[in-house]
Amino acid sequence: MHRTGHMVMRSICLAAITALGLALAAGIHAAQEPRPEIEVIRITDALHMLGSGTTTGGNTAAFITEEGVVLVDTKLEGYGQDILGNVRRLTDKPVTTIINTHVHFDHSGSNTEFPDTVHFVAHENIRRHMARTDCQPLPTNCDDFQGENAKYLPSTTFSDRLTLFAGGPDQIDLYYFGRGHTDGDTFVVFKAARTMHTGDMFQGKLLPFIDAENGNGGSALEFGRTLTRAIAGVPDVETIITGHWETPLAWSDLVDYRDFYADLVRQAREGIDAGRSAEEVIASYAKPARFADYNAPESGTFSVTSIVNYIYDGR
Ligand SMILES: [Zn+2]
Ligand SMILES: [Zn+2]
Repeated sequence: MHRTGHMVMRSICLAAITALGLALAAGIHAAQEPRPEIEVIRITDALHMLGSGTTTGGNTAAFITEEGVVLVDTKLEGYGQDILGNVRRLTDKPVTTIINTHVHFDHSGSNTEFPDTVHFVAHENIRRHMARTDCQPLPTNCDDFQGENAKYLPSTTFSDRLTLFAGGPDQIDLYYFGRGHTDGDTFVVFKAARTMHTGDMFQGKLLPFIDAENGNGGSALEFGRTLTRAIAGVPDVETIITGHWETPLAWSDLVDYRDFYADLVRQAREGIDAGRSAEEVIASYAKPARFADYNAPESGTFSVTSIVNYIYDGR
């Protein structure tokens, strides 16, 4: 798997959105399209990252517990059998629990392809968005959960914090620290593995997409603060499974990512205080040398322009 960082990452997100959009527009089921394979990366014997590599959707975590396998996120529509096939190569145990980090179609796309006996767990705002009847298929796949499929809506929800399998080696802690990418972003911590899945609060080494346009509650203003709360509030984590990066990252990368984002917000705020226009701030944005690895394109979905405009709009 090639590792040319940000360019790969960016093409993953845009290609996934474009490919699925075209498939839907043509009335073709995404499962029938030739698709990239899932790449499995071992973190511990019990915990694996089912990576996206290219266009499989967000990273899935597969955690083997005493009672069965817990998945975090289910990639794009059509990937349910691929995920199950990979799980079967790791263990004979069935998938018993699915946690979603947020509402987007590339993280919950194949929820409804699992047995309906699975225990679905998510933040209360994720459930509310999934249950909507008025969303577009991109980026919120609420069509998946209508009618008969309402049985796939999360049966366990939480607002700030939830612990599953408390006290033993299987303990999983779910944290919500406020708005950011959406208003349901959940940080999922596998305690014994000292590993956290961040969902798209940390997609990889690039500026975030803020979903403020689709009723999903994202906030560029809150994004940095929410990351700071996560960094302060989650103890003893070493390894990070991001939303989309091809390999696991380290806790220090999460801290760098927060700093990278906070620096852009600071530059925007200084522009506001100095009476400069958003366009001037965008044109003069200078990325500090320590963030050389991080991608901050001037325009596009994951860009300086989009973040600065949101800060100027107070969103
Ligand atoms: Zn995503
Ligand atoms: Zn997302």
